[in-house]
Amino acid sequence: MSFKDLQLNRPILRAIAEKGYDNPTLVQEKTIPLVLNGKDVIVSAQTGTGKTAAFALPILQLLYDKQEGPKKGKKIKALIVSPTRELAIQIAENFEAYATHTKLESAVIFGGAAIEPQKELLRNGIDILIATPGRLLDLHKQDEINLDYVQTLVLDEADLMLDMGFIDDVKKIERLCPKTKQTLLFSATIPYKVEQLASTILTEPQRIEV
Ligand code: AMP
Repeated sequence: MSFKDLQLNRPILRAIAEKGYDNPTLVQEKTIPLVLNGKDVIVSAQTGTGKTAAFALPILQLLYDKQEGPKKGKKIKALIVSPTRELAIQIAENFEAYATHTKLESAVIFGGAAIEPQKELLRNGIDILIATPGRLLDLHKQDEINLDYVQTLVLDEADLMLDMGFIDDVKKIERLCPKTKQTLLFSATIPYKVEQLASTILTEPQRIEV
């Protein structure tokens, strides 16, 4: 299977080619069509399988098809929650690369760094936000983040997020987003507590294992 078979549009295919990817990985092959179809998914995949592109590419595709309006008024339409700042930065770098030929803008926020520059990023108007849970809730409380327009929520490394004690934060974040949205849960393993979280926040999820 090729990326073209996955119905991705030209600006995204161009960015993929520039990254040097020849073909989709297994997790991409299985996940991308379901995300494009608006499904909720639970994906069990380890880091290194290409899981970041498995959610980033279809999210960009969905947003690209709908994008309009000037930069200033941009609303956050995709939210990716990640347990650690390192992972958040990696995800953001991926989005940047794949979005090169689109006008879609992303930003990354995380704890342990100055908050003012992050507020500036948010005020610039972005389509996609990548965040660690604590800083996200902090900035939301300060009225710097509006999640009312989120269409797709991604919980990455859900097992790690729960191990790190972020369960209540994750639930809170989910409740701050609109009720009708698409939710994608990625996890290396699916222990009982991830299963439980999934059953409370996902709607008829499709399961993918690689
Ligand atoms: P991830 O599992 O998202 O951490 O990705 C692992 C690595 O695989 C990253 O360095 C990606 O840039 C790379 N990668 C992702 N998708 C592909 C692909 N289809 N072909 C080749 N490399 C890829």
